Amino acid sequence: MISHHPSDDSLAHYAAGNLGAGPRLVLATHLSGCPQCRARVRSFEAVGGALIDSCAPADLPADGLERVFRLIDAPEPIRPVAPVALHPELPEPLRRYPVGRWRFVHPGFRWRRVTLPEAPDANVIMLRVGAGQKVPQHTHTGTEYTQVLTGAFSDSFGRYRAGDCVEADEDVDHQPVVDPDGECICLAAVDGRLRLDSWIGRMLQPLIGI
Ligand SMILES: [Zn+2]
Repeated sequence: MISHHPSDDSLAHYAAGNLGAGPRLVLATHLSGCPQCRARVRSFEAVGGALIDSCAPADLPADGLERVFRLIDAPEPIRPVAPVALHPELPEPLRRYPVGRWRFVHPGFRWRRVTLPEAPDANVIMLRVGAGQKVPQHTHTGTEYTQVLTGAFSDSFGRYRAGDCVEADEDVDHQPVVDPDGECICLAAVDGRLRLDSWIGRMLQPLIGI
């Protein structure tokens, strides 16, 4: 049962291809397990298609057709993700992305970086937080997207379980706490920069580089 979904605003930006690469991967991972959000994205895509259909036609340049044929004949761009699962234990499409080793930060707190070959500067991380642990209190300058992969955590707004997607904008100053009966692994990306306030945050910031 999924009870927390990305906002319509984010799903519309996803459908339009306007989201940053990091948040896009987090949303794509959510969509792979959420038929409800896949249907929302399809309806936004249909609206976008209808808008294009209603646009006034524009004249093509004289060499327009020739340019289209050149693009068709051009070699395939580098494929952004591996054709086979690199990490079968993870959901699609995350399992096709290279992930680094788990790095120790603090007892009960590890992270690893997810590399996006199509966007090497994107800040996407997996966090692995032990049972009952608090995630460093933080705010951020953009929207933060978190997809719960295993386990569960709560903050002052609710409880989030595997499959849920949490979207926190820059006004949110939250401190998630993992359930007492097991660790929680999340995928997270920020459209902006984290500002970490606690001592663990100050230690984590240069390590993660976000
Ligand atoms: Zn959903």
